[in-house]
Amino acid sequence: VQRARLSVSNFSTRSGDHEGGERVINLDHGDPTMYEIFWRQMGDKTTITIPGWQSMSYFSDITNICWFLEPEFAKEVVRLHKVVGNAVTEGRYIVVGTGSSQLFLAALYALSPHDAAQPKSVVSAAPYYSSYPSMTDYQKSGLYRWAGDAQSFDKDEPYIELVTSPNNPDGYVRRSVVNRTEGALVHDLAYYWPQYTPISSPADHELMLFTVSKSTGHAGMRIGWALVKDQEVAKKMTKFIELNTIGVSKDSQLRAANVLKAVSDSCGREGSFEEGESFFNFGHNVLAERWKQLRAAVQQSGMFSLPNFSPAFCTFFSQVLEAQPAFVWLKCEQGIEDCESFLRRHKILTRGGKHFGVTPDYVRISMLDRDENFNLFINRLKAIEG
Ligand code: PMP
Repeated sequence: VQRARLSVSNFSTRSGDHEGGERVINLDHGDPTMYEIFWRQMGDKTTITIPGWQSMSYFSDITNICWFLEPEFAKEVVRLHKVVGNAVTEGRYIVVGTGSSQLFLAALYALSPHDAAQPKSVVSAAPYYSSYPSMTDYQKSGLYRWAGDAQSFDKDEPYIELVTSPNNPDGYVRRSVVNRTEGALVHDLAYYWPQYTPISSPADHELMLFTVSKSTGHAGMRIGWALVKDQEVAKKMTKFIELNTIGVSKDSQLRAANVLKAVSDSCGREGSFEEGESFFNFGHNVLAERWKQLRAAVQQSGMFSLPNFSPAFCTFFSQVLEAQPAFVWLKCEQGIEDCESFLRRHKILTRGGKHFGVTPDYVRISMLDRDENFNLFINRLKAIEG
């Protein structure tokens, strides 16, 4: 495992001297390894055994529109949203996907008419999630095409607006900005969980995307889910996944069901684990400490600025809390125009503003790496002087 990790040079590695002095810290990706500690502590609570004869069929429930959706997984999705209070599940169809990435493409497919003369425009307010433009355009679909920043979209024609809330990269809560009747909305709620942002009310949109990658930290399981109001849209999304991968790994869905169950169990007053804290408490506490350290380091260096978040009441924690996003959206001050290159010279790999549709004095930095990497990052940031 160690050798395999070292060979993936693009990701964080544990190589280098033990002080970490020469080591490059890669915080470009949002790899959620911060959560490993929690799941290690859970021990065998989420271990599952799948015998060779199980999960062999393509089908899970042929009475469901999403016929490859494992009922156990669907049950735990509904339960978790109820426990957290972050999304309405009543009157919704659940569509499971290989990550929310596959569901994103399924949504574009389902929301674009197949007989239109022109591809449908896909927009999102900048700074937007850096994968949206490339995921939309890499196959040069005739159905839809990337049309850039939603704030400057002025075409009088049908469009799809992607609303990411809280937003990747900057962590702010968002609403749609185009607001025209010809618009279809996709709400990407990957980060609408209590460790990242105050939960204000259950989200109640037409089409909402969620993923275990950011909620529980199991990015490698590749499981996401969509909550869809419209039956025809749910059918088309299911069709897309059928054409694309003939369903979604049952092994992963069963594992995801167990992980979601453990998260819900950890939150319940009666059902809580005797020896442990709730999953969201854990995540919230780690991120609160990290954001505190980060703000102190940024202040000490005097070279950067950070977003500020207004405190808001969180219905999950029953407290007024501040957002503590999964990414830092850092701005280089003092005339540094290319923040990504500047930090790279200090051996910190980040993703520059141009990937998100804005200027290169901004960078996005992951807050979800392992303690060791995060601590190195903070120490290096403190040492940077003008
Ligand atoms: N949407 C947003 C806003 C994300 O940040 C990510 C992951 N970086 C995804 C979707 C994709 O998640 P998944 O791993 O479920 O494909």
